[in-house]
Amino acid sequence: MKLLKKSLIFLLCITMIFSVAACGDKGGDETGGKNIVADTDIVLAENGVSDYKILVPSDASMAVEYSAEEVQKYIELSTGAKLPIVKEPASAGDKVLSIGRTALLEGSGVKVDINELGRDGFKVVRKGNNVYICGGKDSGTAFGVFEFLHDEVGYEAYAEDAIVYDTHAKLMVKDFDKSDKPAIPERFMDGTMHTVDNASSYRYRFVNEYASSGKYTMYGLETYVKGCSAHALHDLLPRAEYSVNHPEWYPDGTQLCLSKQDLFDEFIKKITEALDTDRVGYRISLGQEDGFTRWCGCRACSDEQNRYGGTGYWLRFCNKVVNKVEEWIAENQPGREIKYSAFAYSMGFEPPVNDNHELIDESCRPHEKMAIRVCTGGFCHYHAVDDPNCSINKVMLEKLQDWAKITDNFTVWGYSAEYGHYLPFFDNFSFMQSEIKTYVELLNCQNLFMEYISGSNMTSFDYLRCYLFGKLCWNPDIDMEATINEFFKGYYGEVATEMRDIFDTYRNHVAKVDAANSTPDKCYNAAYYHADTDQKDKWTRTFVDNMIEKVNAVLDKCLALPDAERGQQLYNRILGERVCIMYIKVLKFDDFGYPAYERAAVIDQFEADCIATDTRSYREGHSVFEFIESQRSKLYA
Ligand SMILES: [Zn+2]
Ligand SMILES: [Zn+2]
Repeated sequence: MKLLKKSLIFLLCITMIFSVAACGDKGGDETGGKNIVADTDIVLAENGVSDYKILVPSDASMAVEYSAEEVQKYIELSTGAKLPIVKEPASAGDKVLSIGRTALLEGSGVKVDINELGRDGFKVVRKGNNVYICGGKDSGTAFGVFEFLHDEVGYEAYAEDAIVYDTHAKLMVKDFDKSDKPAIPERFMDGTMHTVDNASSYRYRFVNEYASSGKYTMYGLETYVKGCSAHALHDLLPRAEYSVNHPEWYPDGTQLCLSKQDLFDEFIKKITEALDTDRVGYRISLGQEDGFTRWCGCRACSDEQNRYGGTGYWLRFCNKVVNKVEEWIAENQPGREIKYSAFAYSMGFEPPVNDNHELIDESCRPHEKMAIRVCTGGFCHYHAVDDPNCSINKVMLEKLQDWAKITDNFTVWGYSAEYGHYLPFFDNFSFMQSEIKTYVELLNCQNLFMEYISGSNMTSFDYLRCYLFGKLCWNPDIDMEATINEFFKGYYGEVATEMRDIFDTYRNHVAKVDAANSTPDKCYNAAYYHADTDQKDKWTRTFVDNMIEKVNAVLDKCLALPDAERGQQLYNRILGERVCIMYIKVLKFDDFGYPAYERAAVIDQFEADCIATDTRSYREGHSVFEFIESQRSKLYA
């Protein structure tokens, strides 16, 4: 692990300045940095020696042991003192840092209530000589440990391989009395965080629903009743199996026919069978199928849709399912609690309200046990949600406001990439804070899945975006500009200024594209300006003023720094940005008027950079090498 110590002192100054500035209103934590916890007069370590032990429960999980090792590691790095990790029982008179639900914690009077903190919230409290760090669940304990280390030794993780801390000859125990929890209780980001870097994901305080468990906690997949996740309707009634005897359930090119009583009965039978087999799962997702953008058009379904709207028709079906399953549970498994959800996406995004924004009919109101999983891909990702100049977000926000009038039980499926082209700069940096605020303040969102560069690990300013989302999901009121500045210093160290310059160049460029193409009546959605790959004029207009050459020159300068000064890790981060900009050059070579004889060399360089940075995909499910071959074939066409 390379530690960016050089940037540390500067970083601490920044943190302190902003913390002091922020203390006037909410006691700190306005910047992504934290308020400063006062020292006690108790010594934690001095001259590489400590009286303290790290205490874990006798049955500590692997995740709690990992948290204990983190405390051990960073206190040693900071002070030179290696604290032993011991399992309970503690000896009388021990001075301890207690991690997780120890018996000592139970007897201490410090209450760690999962109902108050949720899964990921935590308490860090000093009582006498001891410090207690414990979360609602193990993930909360880990996040409490990161917080403890932040306050105690200045720990901040810009990525798993970019962690800073300060060093102390003498370190005092801080007077902790902290309780904190994330604004969005469950948060998960895919893409790089999921594909290759679970470690950074955890340090950004995401809990990956799909990561391998062990030293990181994971909750999610196992919580769905088997067979009843995502698109349960089609999963439980597969076309291949049922269409033989029930072709009428599967009208061509549409969703299932929801008016058929025998389909309903069979669906209930399948769900209750699943509930019988799987007694642990507690979620059922009543998702419609992907890929069909029409509801069934039979007479009975059409009548329903005319009366209640498409979404009303769908929700009435879901409500009926929930009522029936709940009836069955009351009779067969009394006391079992199931959480249901239904997607609001595609043609189901339209809320079931009339022109006066009122619920069409009480029967369309989502069942109180059923969350609406809002898919927000339709937002303009360039402008803030409440930007009055964005025609797209004005309409989208109105729909969300209508949804919020008819239920208060929401989860969100968000999007934060250009799905046709993962690599080039995707400018959602003006959108993201307002986005998360909307999920928190308007929807009281309980779970956010942020779909990202799915299956891949490379996009322009990837880690910055993930870091910001991690911070925002915890506290949507962070000072974005200060947090971005802090990240550049921590992650890019010696080349922070140059990399910030590239980031600003991109953003200024997109701002120009937006100004040239948006009107108050019709937003251009400039974040997605790469999408129209076939519209040559759009691309050439988009990339005027030699942006590629300009960015490349700065990157080349950074790459040419001596290794001793810059380090291999940083070299790869810079090289990753070159992959992202060179993708555009390779893709649009002809359109930009480059001399033809250069083309082969540009492709070769791009390929070498992709290999060096382990770049996986250029779009979902498509290897970057597939793209390289297709471009290479044009050389000889
Ligand atoms: Zn039908
Ligand atoms: Zn817009």
